[in-house]
Amino acid sequence: MAVRVRTAAVAPFFKNGYLVSCETTREGVLIDPGDEIGELLDAARTDRIDVRAILLTHAHMDHITGVGRAKAALEAPIWLDRGDLFLYNDIVEQGRMFGFEVEPQPPVDNFYEYRTPFRFGNYVVDILPTPGHCPGGVCLAIGAASSAARELFVGDTLFAGSIGRTDLPGGDYEALIRSIREVLFRFPDETIVHSGHGPDTTIGDERRTNPFLT
Ligand SMILES: [Zn+2]
Repeated sequence: MAVRVRTAAVAPFFKNGYLVSCETTREGVLIDPGDEIGELLDAARTDRIDVRAILLTHAHMDHITGVGRAKAALEAPIWLDRGDLFLYNDIVEQGRMFGFEVEPQPPVDNFYEYRTPFRFGNYVVDILPTPGHCPGGVCLAIGAASSAARELFVGDTLFAGSIGRTDLPGGDYEALIRSIREVLFRFPDETIVHSGHGPDTTIGDERRTNPFLT
């Protein structure tokens, strides 16, 4: 897949934000803009990307603190799963829980419709519901419209060698394991996985070596 992926992560959460774009049309999407939003907006400007949507894998604080700045700069709609709206609207309280002062974010524009893949340029985004880390968690499977190959943007559902925590409001360990096994592990071994924290991995590596899943 020739889709372009730019990523950035900054203190204190070191949460990966992604700018994914079509090399031909220069249309793109922004995934989970947090505190690294300045770098992602710089990348979008440098690469002259027309960002068509702000796609959220879930609404934990560290994944949405940059949504307001992204929306103001790009005028792109914000997409979220309806099941995470309570978290999104509770961002100030989430911050307080962890000892951070965070700003409320602009309202969500659209809720995902699972039968309708999202499109940008020559690419499609399949929205896969993967609850467990939180009730409205989704993974985004992005690939060329002309091919079945996808790269996965999994938020905090799956990490290299680990899985998302399930001790926060709405977390469900059994559901998380089921989401990974039944949704993510359906993809072939060579599928690249871009996580919300830490390095990229592949479905094959996690299938073989992830201690929570072997
Ligand atoms: Zn999270």
